[in-house]
Amino acid sequence: MNNPSEHPAIAMAARQLAARGIEDEAILAAFRRVPREEFVPEDLREFAYEDAPLPIGEGQTISQPYIVACMMDAAEITSGTRVLEVGAGSGYAAAVMSTIAGEVHAVERHEKLARKAAARVARLGYDNCTIITGDGMAGLPDEAPFDAILVAARIEEVPDALKRQLKVGGRLVVPVGGDDIQQLRCITRRSQDEWESHDITPVRFVPLLEGVVPEDGARASSDHRPARDMTTPELIAAYCTRLPEIEDPQFAAAFDKFADKRIVMLGECSHGTHEFYAARAAITRHLVDNHGFNIVAVEGDWPDAAAYDTFIRGGQLRPDQEKPFRRFPGWMWRNEVMPDFLRALRDINADRDGDAMVGFYGLDIYNMSSSIEAVLAYLDEHDPDAAAVARERYGCLTPWQADPATYGRVSLSEGYAKCEEGVIKQCNEMLHRSLAEGSGAFSAAMNARLVASAEKYYRVMYYGGSESWNLRDSHMADTLEYLLENRGKNAKAVVWAHNSHIGDARATDMGAVRGEHNIGQLARERWGDDVALVGFGTHGGTVSAAHDWDGTRETMRINPSRRDSYERLCHDSGIERFLLDLTDEGELSSRLREPRLERFIGVIYRPETERWSHYSDAVLPRQFDAYCWFDETRALQPLDESEPHEGVAETYPFGV
Ligand code: SAH
Repeated sequence: MNNPSEHPAIAMAARQLAARGIEDEAILAAFRRVPREEFVPEDLREFAYEDAPLPIGEGQTISQPYIVACMMDAAEITSGTRVLEVGAGSGYAAAVMSTIAGEVHAVERHEKLARKAAARVARLGYDNCTIITGDGMAGLPDEAPFDAILVAARIEEVPDALKRQLKVGGRLVVPVGGDDIQQLRCITRRSQDEWESHDITPVRFVPLLEGVVPEDGARASSDHRPARDMTTPELIAAYCTRLPEIEDPQFAAAFDKFADKRIVMLGECSHGTHEFYAARAAITRHLVDNHGFNIVAVEGDWPDAAAYDTFIRGGQLRPDQEKPFRRFPGWMWRNEVMPDFLRALRDINADRDGDAMVGFYGLDIYNMSSSIEAVLAYLDEHDPDAAAVARERYGCLTPWQADPATYGRVSLSEGYAKCEEGVIKQCNEMLHRSLAEGSGAFSAAMNARLVASAEKYYRVMYYGGSESWNLRDSHMADTLEYLLENRGKNAKAVVWAHNSHIGDARATDMGAVRGEHNIGQLARERWGDDVALVGFGTHGGTVSAAHDWDGTRETMRINPSRRDSYERLCHDSGIERFLLDLTDEGELSSRLREPRLERFIGVIYRPETERWSHYSDAVLPRQFDAYCWFDETRALQPLDESEPHEGVAETYPFGV
């Protein structure tokens, strides 16, 4: 039984440490003395003595007491020991060690964590414990040598610098291995050039990462020059959050800062870049799995996306149903990234009830004929009389269904909107039905809206100008609004669309010169701070694109970014992958607010005329809330060229 007056740290030392074989009385006493609740965020205090790591912000965790005890045990910390800890995090382990050791120096790369931890240990009176911001990969040469070095983050290869900062006879305790599981290794320095090591136990740690993460963009802590003396690429390097490989869980975790938003829009600066798809898939899975996002809405057509939605909910495509996303540009939604992504969403849904499942939806308006079929299929099943009326109305569009663009020309020359009235009536009726009749009716209504928008779109396309673009983006924003409404108060959406759609149009030539708006701008106008707009960019590499609309996909080399572009500033930062917060005020943001060129590659890429066909003036920090950078990227591979044919593997709904 617990003694109610006993501090929970005492019970913890008994249950989690002594019972598991930690015998050293000094170590047990150290854990009894340090109040762990002071080292965790306020709302997690009640869990402070759980047998687990806990989040402390910046995607990091406070270590599990038992593991800290094992590390201290192996490092043989006693009263005179000089200790270096790499990865101070909350400062908990450093504080515990400082109750035994002579001196503890702890280094933390996140400036914000380091500052808080330093304030905390000072307040609690651990005055032989110093916590500083820095990159601990290189150790702490100014304070070396140490009797003991403890590394609180995993690494594949132990840096020489750390081994060389041990005294002869000193011990380095470090988790060594890949991202899944590591060995806690104790390395003893035997002589000037001799080290000996043994493994203690398998463990799981967060990765040791290079570079310092400054707190607020006001100052680069690894660089003590004033910001105004630094070049813009240097400022980018100092202020950005460096990202690991996309496959590393820490990659997606860097986007946790958007977890509280209702809508997160993820862009792309080309429709044919592997990294943009893979990154968005990783981020989206993470947001769906951990932060309650239940809508994935993409720049694709509603009826096609509905087939993917059926799949991720564990359903089957009707045998007579057209395979989704077959038209140009096929690689946009039938590519090497989508199958795994959809399977992951299906796995997540497998453990959820219908209402809690994540859905996959299309915001775009090009597949008019599938939408017509879907509306008719719904009515045939539920209301055959209404189906007959709808057939009559949509019949007006039949001659042009295969090539709706000619419809625009014809309706123009005939001088009137031939089919408009019928499709609008049909749309309104379906919207009414969707209120009364469940989820199938909602999808049918979205298809009827698509037909109505598309009818108008192809007509106004012939007038040229901004109207058709605006109609399409208004349709997308309205569809998103319908989706949010339909999913109720817990609705949270991730949107995938090109930077030209999700970056606020008012910050580029689109809005300023051409009078165009887009879904990013409309979302900000409708949902304000509940929206985060994240742009994506690259300097060079290859891209999947065609030379002309309906042309063949080719892998094309992207020209290196122009010297007068935002992309070049990012490239010159010398950092391979990063996330840059653009909402910060400060020297960098005022520099970036100078308009510059930005590159837009769609499904068409014409490198020969790049300046005129693909670059446009923009003000990056107004366009996006954050910018995600991949310096070198590669062409997105379409599925049809790499996926085995039907029957060979589980290819649904991707079968060719
Ligand atoms: N000992 C900490 C646990 C921290 S988790 C505690 O008791 O709270 C590991 C920490 O290592 C994280 O905060 C992470 O930001 C930090 N880290 C990762 N790489 C680093 C590096 N190169 N230099 C310094 N700290 C690093």
